[in-house]
This record gives sequence, structure tokens and C-alpha cells, in this order.
Amino acid sequence: MTGAYLSAAQLRSRMVLAARWIVAEHWPADDGRCPVCRVPDCLAIASAHAYLDATGTPHLPRGRRS
Ligand SMILES: [Zn+2]
Repeated sequence: MTGAYLSAAQLRSRMVLAARWIVAEHWPADDGRCPVCRVPDCLAIASAHAYLDATGTPHLPRGRRS
């Protein structure tokens, strides 16, 4: 791990990338359930949305609409 040597901006950038990846992976399927966690209320995507909201980052997967 090189995390201790990253600047705050670099850490934020990596966190945003990870959160966007989580949003894409955990986006609800047609049945409304998370395809990874298999639950209707996925904590992973909720946490990722909260982080992206807090950082003012757009976070809908490409081609998706809310
Ligand atoms: Zn999930």
C-alpha cells in the first residue's frame, strides 16, 4: 500500500473512482435488487452515493438515468 504517501487530492481522487465503480457494480437490476448483494437496499451503493454526494461528484453510471 502506498496510501500513506498520497496527497489529500490523490486520496480523494482514488476514493471517487472506487465509489463510482461501486455505484456501477451495485446498480439495481430490473427487479430492483442489487445484482451483487442480492438485496433491495444495498448498503454499498448507499455508502458510495453518500460519499459522491458529499464530494459533489456526479455519479450516475454512463447511460443511466435516475
Ligand atoms: Zn450491492
